Amino acid sequence: MARPSRIALQIVDTMTAGARHAWTLEQLATDLHQRGVAADFSSVYRAVERLLGERRLVRIAIDDGAARFELAGAHHDHVRCVRCAALAAIPCVVDPAALAAAAASTGYTVTTHCVVLDGVCPACRQH
Ligand SMILES: [Zn+2]
Ligand SMILES: [Zn+2]
Repeated sequence: MARPSRIALQIVDTMTAGARHAWTLEQLATDLHQRGVAADFSSVYRAVERLLGERRLVRIAIDDGAARFELAGAHHDHVRCVRCAALAAIPCVVDPAALAAAAASTGYTVTTHCVVLDGVCPACRQH
């Protein structure tokens, strides 16, 4: 079994290589296996928890079954395929004026948001 620090390093490498935008734990475990890194599911889970604690990864706030993780970085929003659940990043779709209006009309201080557009990805559209 690979050492925990090595598993965490390999997870960041896999994500940086960018074959997809966001990963489930299962997808990370499969990718590590393909890279020849011996890591069982619970080791992957612990490495992801550790990277979340170090703020190097974030959990994507979409509750549709499997938790998905991505590298921490600048704010962006997402588009999701309703057929295969693939996710892609898109530049922020929220107009700052709309945020200001939401804050003004509710009295809330608006701190963050997460917008997910639903659609069908190019691969699924071909079928
Ligand atoms: Zn993202
Ligand atoms: Zn946004």
